[in-house]
Amino acid sequence: MDNMSFGADSMDPIRVNGNANGVVGDGKRKPTVNSDKIVAVLGSGDYGRAISRRLVNSGYTVYIGSRDPNRGKIKTLVRQTGATLTGQEAALAVAKVVIVAVGRDHYDFLPMTHLRDKILIDVSNNTERRRGPHYRSNAEYLQGLVTEAKVVKGFNVLSAYALENGGLQGSKEVFLAGDHADAKMKVSDIVRSMGFHPVDWGSLQASRDIEDVPLKFMPSWKRPVAVVFGIFVFIWILALFSFQICRNLASGNWHERWKHLAMQNFNRVIAITAIWTLSFCYLPGLIAAYIQMWRGTKYSRFPKWLDDWLKMRKQLGLLMLGLASMHACISVAYLTPQMTSWVYEAPTKIQAEVIVGVNTTSTKSISIYNSEFNWRGELFLTMGAISTCLLVVLGVSSLPSVTATLSWREFTFIQSKLGWVALIAAASHDIFLAWHYMFLYWGCFRTLPIGPQYALYPPFIAVIMKIPLLLPPVDNYLQKIRRGYERNSQYEIRGSEGV
Ligand code: NAP
Repeated sequence: MDNMSFGADSMDPIRVNGNANGVVGDGKRKPTVNSDKIVAVLGSGDYGRAISRRLVNSGYTVYIGSRDPNRGKIKTLVRQTGATLTGQEAALAVAKVVIVAVGRDHYDFLPMTHLRDKILIDVSNNTERRRGPHYRSNAEYLQGLVTEAKVVKGFNVLSAYALENGGLQGSKEVFLAGDHADAKMKVSDIVRSMGFHPVDWGSLQASRDIEDVPLKFMPSWKRPVAVVFGIFVFIWILALFSFQICRNLASGNWHERWKHLAMQNFNRVIAITAIWTLSFCYLPGLIAAYIQMWRGTKYSRFPKWLDDWLKMRKQLGLLMLGLASMHACISVAYLTPQMTSWVYEAPTKIQAEVIVGVNTTSTKSISIYNSEFNWRGELFLTMGAISTCLLVVLGVSSLPSVTATLSWREFTFIQSKLGWVALIAAASHDIFLAWHYMFLYWGCFRTLPIGPQYALYPPFIAVIMKIPLLLPPVDNYLQKIRRGYERNSQYEIRGSEGV
């Protein structure tokens, strides 16, 4: 017996699927344990202890098999889990299901003969994606080492932290893969009784993909982030021309305005990027509607670019919410009569004697700023607040935990109707801010539009595209197509009113 140790925390003498009366040699009654409820965990590390604690809390009897169960520190840590610390072989002797909570590099040192005929759950992860003609996943490698065992890949998508904190850190799904249906069934039962949701990914070869899951780095965010960043850079360059280069060209004063690059320009650019991005959340749906009406069916694939665009709307919406929130914070911090005098009541001009030198005064015209908003200023702020509030509602309602509480009708009402109100409120916020300049002033010697003007281009296009779709005949026709009607089909859809 190499590392079969029964030190201070040695294995309790239990009866597996008990004998007739559960009585042992000393005449005392010992607890009878259902063998289905016994699990061995190889490895007393972070993951081994976390999963053991979770199993114990779910009603399992757990034996942690360690290479050296007599280490004081490990004993203390394992005691907190409710599991029993023992040697590797002793743990394997009593359990049919074994969780292999050791890194792949150490698989070769496991007691192979004792792993035969067991269900082995491979929980391991990799630190980087590996591929190649001879690549085998960790689970396939383990299966190759113990061909008589039934290896099931699983649990690797849950961290030790998630296991210890109820799996609330993220998804509750546990992906499983294995070549033995009965073993997968058994592991699924364990997963379910631990409060997670098993998802079968197929044969053991699928463990390659499962092992890649924790290594994925925001795959659904790369493209939306690139789009938003692209819009930001484009607007930033436009703003540089509008607010710095053109105005300095016009005034001939090249020392002015550069300092505003850091905050004023940035704030303008994120505001315009946000409203463009919000419009880009609605434009693909509008284009899709026109395509469906043009083709007279919803049963044909959209072009790939549109499909991709439709799929990134949620991410675009959340990025837009971040930008809009940042814009609101910066604006509130610097909104003063001096900075945006045109949304405040007119300043009072006074003539004052100003001391300009020793015994020298000069009469100067001085503006005393009025801190009361004019009517446009009030509308500008109110529209900004309404828009921000609705955008927060949109963002929050797109979180999976919140979406799960909404009916489909509630979700579409928020995402579609409230979203359009948010877009119109954001556009009104921009219009009320820059009303004076909206049609009168063109920057850069009348060659470039100014920020509040080009901020409105995408929302304007979206609204223009939306209006015809609101007309009852068009709306009815579109709804009919979305219920399955095909223009050139011999089949009519029945039971639909108003189409
Ligand atoms: P760890 O804290 O380093 O523990 C690994 C354990 O493996 C050691 O404590 C050791 O326990 C045991 N072991 C057995 N043979 C070994 C050998 N030859 N050399 C060194 N150690 C050996 O690692 P962990 O974080 O628990 O991870 C264990 C496995 O779970 C890994 O495959 C990892 O990819 C996977 N995983 C971890 C997490 C996580 O959040 N930590 C999440 C998902 C998956 P004894 O000394 O008692 O034998």
